[in-house]
Amino acid sequence: MNNEFSLTFHGVRGSYPVPGEATRRYGGNTSSLLFEIAGQVVIFDAGTGIIQAGRWLDGRLRSGQAVHVFLTHLHSDHIMGLPFFAPLFNPEVTVVVHCPESGGAESQRALEALFIPPYSPITLRGIKARLDFQPLAASKEVSTLELENGVEVAHIMHDSHPRQGVFILRIACGRRRVVYATDVESPGGFDPVVGGFIAGADLLVHDSQYFERDYFSATDPRAGFGHSTVAMAANNALRSGVKRLFLFHFDPRYSDAMLEEMLTQARQIFPASALAREGERIDIK
Ligand SMILES: [Zn+2]
Ligand SMILES: [Zn+2]
Repeated sequence: MNNEFSLTFHGVRGSYPVPGEATRRYGGNTSSLLFEIAGQVVIFDAGTGIIQAGRWLDGRLRSGQAVHVFLTHLHSDHIMGLPFFAPLFNPEVTVVVHCPESGGAESQRALEALFIPPYSPITLRGIKARLDFQPLAASKEVSTLELENGVEVAHIMHDSHPRQGVFILRIACGRRRVVYATDVESPGGFDPVVGGFIAGADLLVHDSQYFERDYFSATDPRAGFGHSTVAMAANNALRSGVKRLFLFHFDPRYSDAMLEEMLTQARQIFPASALAREGERIDIK
């Protein structure tokens, strides 16, 4: 059996893409994670990073293969790469977009709008893949979806992110688990249900948008914006007993050098911390 379980970060920045000198080391694209597990391809979020993920997959997908794209929420930094995702233009594959139900049928319509004028010249007829939309139930209880080859994706809603909340996602195969908690804010730590959802993961990818000094700034505080500080991320990793933490969804105004300062702070709380870096592939053993 194919024992592969890998994660590749294709976009790690928050809010909007920031290409340029100051973001060259960790990358300027917005949220997108590619998982290749036991022959199953799963993507979390469709920020501009999904464009690179699509190029990597182009030519590698088998005829009839399904690519599952799970969206944590519909903020533009998590969906804006979708119209440029190469597998959508491959007639041999199926792309299943799992969209948050928080807006009801509106979610699917909102996503479809990305492909039609005036936002795009393509129109839905231009999509050659079989495209399915599957709703993700907005619930604070854990829901689990079984994909092929023993891969499971679970989700739970967290309401700290304005306005319709966000889904925390967990992907598992056998004993190996990765949790993706982006666009979350938890000044007092996660509640026990979310804590249990994360507990014991091999890898936790956690929102780390702000330094404490910016979050608590006297002149321009970021509390209530729906994002975490580096300390919140590190403390959540510590409390939930995960093996490794990857800081993620960095403020677009922060340079690479500032992220490295952030990492030093995280390691003082949780030593097994790292910065998510665009293009980095991690094999989970
Ligand atoms: Zn975001
Ligand atoms: Zn957001």
